[in-house]
Amino acid sequence: MSHDPNCIFCRIVAGQIPAKKVHEDDELLVFHDINPWAPVHVLVIPKQHIETLYDAGPEHDALLGRMMGLAPVLMRRLGVTNGFRALVNVGPDGRQEVPHLHLHVMGGPRPWARG
Ligand code: 5GP
Ligand code: ZN
Repeated sequence: MSHDPNCIFCRIVAGQIPAKKVHEDDELLVFHDINPWAPVHVLVIPKQHIETLYDAGPEHDALLGRMMGLAPVLMRRLGVTNGFRALVNVGPDGRQEVPHLHLHVMGGPRPWARG
């Protein structure tokens, strides 16, 4: 599995940087965003280092499906039952700040800090 020692999210996967984990399995890790936009804001990431959605190929279709499929399961588990946003920022114009693919999943009662 590819790992970039300079990548913040790879370091979270490796346990070198602490994170409030919500879910972990062989392929995925989910943790609370350090600067939440909403009452509940988690990041779903693949454990392997994939920089952006541009770098995901057909071989990653199942992985991407699992990332999206996990969102409603975890939101329900976290008490979010009235809707949420799930989005991926891609590259500079997409305002992606951390170059390790991640799905933002945000929910909870309005108003939100952002978004
Ligand atoms: P992006 O702009 O790349 O789509 O979003 C990156 C997200 O990662 C931001 O919402 C930011 O708050 C979050 N983030 C950045 N560094 C860390 C960190 O070290 N720990 C956690 N839990 N979240 C982080
Ligand atoms: Zn990484």
